Amino acid sequence: MAYNDSNIFAKILRGEAPCVKVYEDDATLSFMDVMPQAEGHTLIIPKVAAEFIFDMTPDDYAALAKTTQKIAAAVKQAIGSPGLMIAQLNGAEAGQTVFHIHNHVIPRWDGIDMKLHARQLADIKVLEEQAARIRAAL
Ligand code: AMP
Repeated sequence: MAYNDSNIFAKILRGEAPCVKVYEDDATLSFMDVMPQAEGHTLIIPKVAAEFIFDMTPDDYAALAKTTQKIAAAVKQAIGSPGLMIAQLNGAEAGQTVFHIHNHVIPRWDGIDMKLHARQLADIKVLEEQAARIRAAL
């Protein structure tokens, strides 16, 4: 399947759709997931047009990994979760719903199950407050 630039993350990158931004550099953008599976659920996307891990150059993937590590540390500190999950889905069969590659950073606590994937919209004010705390921890 060819990359379709009408996906929501491509629109966010072009400034055609809003996001609750956490971080941006030349190669990557990070923002809050609007349907979080846990408090502090954050996404990191590359600026290159790629659907899957297989579509990226090693250098572009390395840039995504570098930002993901930076964001993961800030999310863990800001949200205060003992555990942290990083996930990246390739293909609808794997559960992917937005076809612009992205890493999920999801805080985890013992005994607290993750919410269902991409189901319930969060209060944007709550996401803004979490993003501010994460930015302060960068
Ligand atoms: P995936 O299923 O791995 O493709 O994940 C896509 C993620 O993007 C889901 O967790 C959604 O909640 C999230 N999402 C969808 N639309 C938006 C949006 N406009 N802003 C932020 N996150 C979004």
